[in-house]
Amino acid sequence: MATRTIRDLADSEVRGKRALVRVDFNVPLDVEGNVSDDTRIRASLPTIDALFERGARVVVLLSHLGRPKGKPDPAYSLAPVARRLVELSTHPVIFVPSTVSDDALTATRTAPEGTIVLLENTRFLPGEEKNDPALSTELAGLGDFYVNDAFGSAHRAHASTEGVAHHLHPAVAGLLMESELRYLGGAMRNPERPFVAILGGAKISGKIDVIENLLPLVDRLLIGGAMACTFFRAMGLETGGSLVEEDRVDLAKRVLSDAGEKLVLPGDVVVAPSMNDGGRAHTVGRAAIPKDEAVFDIGSESAAHFSSVIESAKTVVWNGPMGVFEHPPFDAGTRAVGNAMVRATANGATTIVGGGDSAAAMEEMGLARSVSHVSTGGGASLEFLEGKTLPGVAALDQTTTK
Ligand code: ADP
Ligand code: MG
Repeated sequence: MATRTIRDLADSEVRGKRALVRVDFNVPLDVEGNVSDDTRIRASLPTIDALFERGARVVVLLSHLGRPKGKPDPAYSLAPVARRLVELSTHPVIFVPSTVSDDALTATRTAPEGTIVLLENTRFLPGEEKNDPALSTELAGLGDFYVNDAFGSAHRAHASTEGVAHHLHPAVAGLLMESELRYLGGAMRNPERPFVAILGGAKISGKIDVIENLLPLVDRLLIGGAMACTFFRAMGLETGGSLVEEDRVDLAKRVLSDAGEKLVLPGDVVVAPSMNDGGRAHTVGRAAIPKDEAVFDIGSESAAHFSSVIESAKTVVWNGPMGVFEHPPFDAGTRAVGNAMVRATANGATTIVGGGDSAAAMEEMGLARSVSHVSTGGGASLEFLEGKTLPGVAALDQTTTK
C-alpha cells in the first residue's frame, strides 16, 4: 500500500477538472507585508504545472498563513502571496479575498482555463483547526478532486488538510508531498544499511519518541547537541551549567542501558563560560566538563568520529544541530556533520535532513542542495520519525499497485 499521488490519476480524473490543492504558503512577511522568503511558493510550482499539463482546467489553492485564530485578520492575508505567485508562475492568478463563499465558488467555476485561483487564508475560518465537517464539505465543493501538497501541515487534522479528503475523491498527494513520503517513508520502512541517525538540538523531551522509535531500526544512533548532556548526567558525569533536563535523567539511563553499542555519544565537547563568550571556548573530554562552564558544541574528535560513521552509511537521517550553531565558534560540529552528509551523498548514500533548525543550518551553509532530501516540514518530519501516521496523509487514497 502506498499513498496515491497525482501521477496515479487517470486522464479522465484530471482533464477539464478543478483541482483543489492544499499547499503550504505559510511564508515569512517583511515589515511592509511583502513575502521575504518565497521558497515555499516556488516549491509548489511543479505540482501546479503538472496538474495543468495533465489537463486540469483550474487549480484552486488553499493554504494557511500564521495563526489568525479563526477570524479574518489583514496581517495574515494571502494577498502578498498572490502578488508573489503572479511573478513566479506562468499561469494567470486570481486571488479571492474569502475562502468559502459564493465568490470563491463562482471563481472556481468561471475562471478561464489554465488559471490559478488562490483563496484566502483557511485559518480565517473557525472550522479549520476544529476540523469541522460542515467546513470540510464546503471546501470539497470548491474542486472536483483533492491534492494535498502541504507536508508541513500533514500532522494536523484540520479541515483543509484532513477533513476535506473524506468528502472529495480522488484525494491524492502532490509532488512535494510525494517526495517527502518517498524519502522519509523509505528510510523508515526499508533503509539500505548501514542506517545511521543523528539527533541533536536543545531538548531530549521533544525527541524521546524519536529516539525510542529509531533505536530498533538503526545501526547507529549518534547524539549531539544539548541532548547529549542529559545522557552525560545519566552516566554520572559533571555537566556544569549545560542545558540538562533533570526530569529526563532516569529516562536517559533507561535508553543507555537498552541501546547498548548502537548509541554513540560525543567523547569530547566544546565548553565556554557562556554562549556569548565564544572567545573563551575550549575543548575537553566529556569527563572533564568544568563546573562553571557549559557545553555548546561537540568536540573536534567527536565531529571526526561522527563524520566517519556518516560517511560509511547507506542511509542517513539527521535531525537537530550538534551545537549552538547560531553562535560561532559553536557551529563547527554542525558544519562537520553537514559536510559529512554531503560526502555520504556523493558516495551514493540516501541522506535526509529533517527539523526546522537543522534545515535552516543546511540552507545557511549552502549544503541543502547537496544532500538527497531536506524536509520542508519540521514538526511533521519529527512525527514521521516517531513512527506516527500523519492524519493528512492517512486521509488520502491508497494504491496497492506500487
Ligand atoms: P530542529 O529544529 O532541527 O529539530 P531543535 O529545535 O531541537 O532542532 O534544536 C535547535 C536548537 O538547539 C538550536 O537553537 C541550538 O542553538 C540548540 N542547541 C544545540 N546544542 C545546544 C547546546 N549544547 N546547548 C544549548 N542549546 C543547544
Ligand atoms: Mg527547532
